[in-house]
Amino acid sequence: MRDKELYTQILGIRSPWEVSEVELAVEDGEVKVFVEQEAGTEQHCPKCGQSCPGYDRRRRSWRHLDTCQFKTILVAEVPRIKCPEHGVVTVGVPWSEPGSGFTALFEALVIDWLKEASLAAVSRQLGLSWNAIDRIMQRAVQRGLERRVEIQPTHIGVDETSFRKRHDYVTVVSDQAGQTVLHVADDRGQNSLTGFYETLSEGQKAGIESVSMDMWPAYIRATLDAIPDAREKIAFDKFHVAKYLGDAVDKVRRAEHRGLLADGRDDLTRTRHHWLMNPQNMSLDQWRGFKALRESTLKTARAWAIKEFAMTLWDYTSRSWATKAWKRWLAWAVRSRLEPVKKVARTIKDHLWGIINAVVLKADNGGAESINSRIKMIKVRSRGFRNKARFRNAIYFHLGGLDLYPTGIKQQGLPT
Ligand SMILES: [Zn+2]
Repeated sequence: MRDKELYTQILGIRSPWEVSEVELAVEDGEVKVFVEQEAGTEQHCPKCGQSCPGYDRRRRSWRHLDTCQFKTILVAEVPRIKCPEHGVVTVGVPWSEPGSGFTALFEALVIDWLKEASLAAVSRQLGLSWNAIDRIMQRAVQRGLERRVEIQPTHIGVDETSFRKRHDYVTVVSDQAGQTVLHVADDRGQNSLTGFYETLSEGQKAGIESVSMDMWPAYIRATLDAIPDAREKIAFDKFHVAKYLGDAVDKVRRAEHRGLLADGRDDLTRTRHHWLMNPQNMSLDQWRGFKALRESTLKTARAWAIKEFAMTLWDYTSRSWATKAWKRWLAWAVRSRLEPVKKVARTIKDHLWGIINAVVLKADNGGAESINSRIKMIKVRSRGFRNKARFRNAIYFHLGGLDLYPTGIKQQGLPT
């Protein structure tokens, strides 16, 4: 039969397996390729490798890449052997990993698609259920985590990110150098981070040089408990400090705007994004247009100047110079008579040790910022994943830097 030869070629079937029959169902757009082992093939136990007598055969099927636009199903009678040590065991097949209803190449295709497209699109394009996609992702992540060589984190960041509802969080630990996610845990409590530290050896823990984070007591405690000399390593980074100060500027603006409106003045109408924008991201026109406002005597302008000055205090290399500069800034902020700014200044004062660490260790959290925005994208793409375990899994899948593909998949044709 020509068909048999064709499919042997297309699917890369190799001895001891051979195509025995091809069944085309044109009306269903489906082709079934039956594969069997050559008679007299010696069987080995997949667990211990010893030669074993055959026990029986079980029919199994796997979805493969479409061929000539036909949904293609591989069907085989897979031998089970009886091992004196391991009992009755199904032998492995070269085209699929155990427990999967898909060939390795098909799983690789799904993995490639998932990297580029939303779950809904993958489901539609490949005609797969959400559960099937979920299982493929789970296996991919599990494989990737098992293959991951021992991590050697030196500069790490820890951050919370919300899942669906506003007060439902996961904790994400990332490697600043590789910008990959090392660990994802439920919630944002002390245990969420302790769980990560517990996976590390004493040597790995000692190798950590900085831990960037928000001024969040649970993460601070977990790190102080687990990491040697943590007091010199915990870094409250620029990204988070900027966020607090930005919120303070916005509170000052809102209150002032209300007061001005009551007096019939619209000085601050539609100016919100100017105050919140990073000046470095402004166009020259925007910066010029903003001049009158930022140089005005408005309280908002004063709050903004205090914030922006704090943004210039991150380049010191000397601990004592950095401390002096920050203390001068604190004195200014505390005397500002702007309640939201004073409140943040008090928080900063209490955490100054960790801010100075961030300055001198150069532990800026740009990596975490970019990971955060990528997680937001994952959230959008994973719409429909209704539980947290799947969300965690998707973070590892997209940001874990893991080798996700089934074993041997880099070859052309079916792996042998
Ligand atoms: Zn065995």
